[in-house]
Amino acid sequence: MSQTKYIFVTGGVTSSLGKGIIAASLAKLLQARGYRTTIQKLDPYINVDPGTLNPYEHGECYVTDDGAETDLDLGHYERFLNVQTSQANNVTTGRIYQSVIEKERRGEFLGKTVQVVPHITNEIKERIQILGKSGDYDIVITEIGGTVGDIESLPYIEAVRQLLWEVGENNGIVVHLTLVPFLSAAGELKTKPTQHSVKTLMESGIKADILVCRTEHHISDDIKNKLALFCNVKKEAVIQSIDASTIYDVPILMQEEGLDRVALQRLNLSDHIEPNLELWKQFLKKHKNPKHTVTVGLIGKYVELQDSYKSILESFIHAGAANEVKVKVRSIHSEHLTEQNVAEKLQGLDGILVAPGFGERGIEGKIHAVRIAREKNIPFLGICLGMQMAVIEFARTVLGLEGANSTEMDANAPHPVINLMEEQKKVTDMGGTMRLGAWDCELTPNTLVHSVYQKDMISERHRHRFEFNGTYREALEKAGLVPSGVNPKTGLVEVVEIPSHPWFIGVQYHPEYKSTVANPHPLFIGFVGAVLQHHQEQTNASLA
Ligand code: GLN
Repeated sequence: MSQTKYIFVTGGVTSSLGKGIIAASLAKLLQARGYRTTIQKLDPYINVDPGTLNPYEHGECYVTDDGAETDLDLGHYERFLNVQTSQANNVTTGRIYQSVIEKERRGEFLGKTVQVVPHITNEIKERIQILGKSGDYDIVITEIGGTVGDIESLPYIEAVRQLLWEVGENNGIVVHLTLVPFLSAAGELKTKPTQHSVKTLMESGIKADILVCRTEHHISDDIKNKLALFCNVKKEAVIQSIDASTIYDVPILMQEEGLDRVALQRLNLSDHIEPNLELWKQFLKKHKNPKHTVTVGLIGKYVELQDSYKSILESFIHAGAANEVKVKVRSIHSEHLTEQNVAEKLQGLDGILVAPGFGERGIEGKIHAVRIAREKNIPFLGICLGMQMAVIEFARTVLGLEGANSTEMDANAPHPVINLMEEQKKVTDMGGTMRLGAWDCELTPNTLVHSVYQKDMISERHRHRFEFNGTYREALEKAGLVPSGVNPKTGLVEVVEIPSHPWFIGVQYHPEYKSTVANPHPLFIGFVGAVLQHHQEQTNASLA
């Protein structure tokens, strides 16, 4: 296919309608028909990337192999498509302006007045077309963050308008996601908010080609006809998106509604090959028919907002299906855990995961949770900060190193078992300066982690500044905390485990970023397997 086709996904009426899931579902269906598809997200905020955003503001920061700190929707894209994303797949207004201003400083605009139109809009168009012109994709889906009518979305909408004109009819379309609310007092679904948001889009010169209507109730043919007539689209282009019990149902629901077929017809692409969703359906079947239920404690400090640990929660869904187990995740606020109450608060858990995080708040609670997992032989997975807390707990309790800590929490710790790498000591800018992206890790044969991956060399994604302090390596190893994964170039310890424990692993990297429906992550599969075994042993013991 020579001409790359563009699909723009915009949102109307309200935020949080799930544009990312609709974009990912459409991409999945197109991919399942054999089209090479990728998705990109344009975010209207001024942060250069979401790396500096508090998780409470914007949910988890997702990290790609090339070290981009991105919006969490990119996680959905990878989980659905099983195709890697990169820096090019997430662009923010801050990044656009940064790049235009840098060009201005270099004199690249040759004395011209630099303006939103054409300079900012040109930069946006270029960022959209980077993926299209790479030759790697037949279809590029671009999700525009925010809601149409927002002041900050305007340059994006204008760039989309221009691009649609440039690529010409049948090469670019707009899918508009809206809300069709149900007014219980009137007992009716209401179409007016959708009509208004389509009109707002029209004022910017863009006609919606397809409407995806989020709804809690079935949208009748009458309502579809009405929406079609007043919003200027064909009736078959009015797609119902009814609330689903799992996001993984959405591609199937969208296929039943014909979203992919209408999109292909509008793009003049063949719809003869039906989507092959066999593996996807097998996964859904296992996900919905678990043979057992287990409970894992997620010990974190951003637990009030589920989106803060999005990739971890999704990884449990993938690994749960692989084990035919339902993994109930109980979120536990680490700030509420004390030495006195921790045993009681973690009562009944079949496994313990200590989450990633930054800063001092809640870390003592995490350390108490590690101790319970270690002493009570409960399967344990520590991720990034969770691994660092495992090292601190072991140093304090087993080695008796009083005041052992990470220099992130205590700059003058008497035993800095976790500390800054030399190159990090010089860093003053906070954005994009951590150890980010994919790094190799060599696994030691005959260790638990090696048996989990069944590989000598792995590559995993990182996002942290602090590291296992090699000075303590020997002492910790002698006492029973074994470094079982090491970066081959730098010698940095990436994995630790306790051979005398049934299943205890801490990893400096983030396995959750690489778990997909097609490829559930081996560490999560292994962890859930161990959690199930522990659960069954406990049940048998209580019956005996
Ligand atoms: N705060 C720790 C560090 O920077 C851990 C980061 C994380 O958990 N992602 O090293």
